[in-house]
Amino acid sequence: MFLLLTHSSTLLFTLLLLTSLPCILSRTLTFSPVTKISLTNHNIQRLADAGKGSTITGISEIKKYFSHFGYINISLHNNSTFSDIFDAEFESVLNLYQQKLGLQVTGKLDSNTLSHITTPRCGVPDTINVDSFHSTEHYLYFPGKPRWTRPMPMSLTYSFSRDYMIRSLSLHEIREAFKRAFSRWASVIPVSFVETDDYSFADIKIGFYNGDHGDGEPFDGVLGVLAHSFSPESGRLHLDAAETWAVDFGSEKSDVAVDLESVATHEIGHLLGLSHSSVKEAVMYPSLKARDKRADLKMDDIKGVQALYGSNPNFRFGSSLESDISTNGADLRVRSLRLAGIILFSFIQSLCLCI
Ligand SMILES: [Zn+2]
Ligand SMILES: [Zn+2]
Repeated sequence: MFLLLTHSSTLLFTLLLLTSLPCILSRTLTFSPVTKISLTNHNIQRLADAGKGSTITGISEIKKYFSHFGYINISLHNNSTFSDIFDAEFESVLNLYQQKLGLQVTGKLDSNTLSHITTPRCGVPDTINVDSFHSTEHYLYFPGKPRWTRPMPMSLTYSFSRDYMIRSLSLHEIREAFKRAFSRWASVIPVSFVETDDYSFADIKIGFYNGDHGDGEPFDGVLGVLAHSFSPESGRLHLDAAETWAVDFGSEKSDVAVDLESVATHEIGHLLGLSHSSVKEAVMYPSLKARDKRADLKMDDIKGVQALYGSNPNFRFGSSLESDISTNGADLRVRSLRLAGIILFSFIQSLCLCI
């Protein structure tokens, strides 16, 4: 009888364990990574009303997010101790984030700020060094301003990992996207990039990785963090294999498709020594929405990288960059002067006609 009871208890326990296992697993699987904030509309509404002194579920997640991307001094905190209180420190961190991303500095979780927090981005933390902001430029470097130190003109080799690739795009499509990305930087600085099959000896090593891949910066699945790379002279460029990488949005219709060439161009900027820019149109701006393209270097990117490597002797500021200048306001003045000149010329012409 005792034996029968014991046997029945064991069976019951096993049955309970088996039935509860899916719950345990699903709880583990639904745990959201620090780098990916996806809030329901209901939660966004609650957070949007947040002000200093209020306590709202979800603020601790945003604090962890800010901590991961360099806005909170990690040595003073433990991720597990972040509270849901909207305190004075959180307000100053929000101000800093808004300043760094070129948003209106409100110190509040306004809809524009929440929209940026939930936008996919690069995994490289933002460099917080307000003192190094230039008067008109907004590019930044990594601490210590590292760069590749070979004699000029410089040639760097790059190679794709054979083991860590994706199958949704052909190797040819990936190679072409990267070729275009490298050529953008090569056209403005005296540095050339040459593809090699010798992966182990290449200066720049490119691969697509899933989740935890051994460098302490695990990828977080679809969207969230898209890619990351390391400052000179590491040469490691990693892309999240879970993304729907695209080279042509015409054929790739997915809502979560990410433009490979835009992300490649951005990450190469890091490999060369550039940190994130606060100019929204710049390639080095940290976030990129799904189905968006931002692969053309802007004046801010060019000035930043040329300050590290000098200018390519063949580089000329082209007409495509003139529209870029207008975003800084400088060109508006030039245009106003041109317009004034045209009006004056027309006025003189009409006077001459009258006479
Ligand atoms: Zn980045
Ligand atoms: Zn990595």
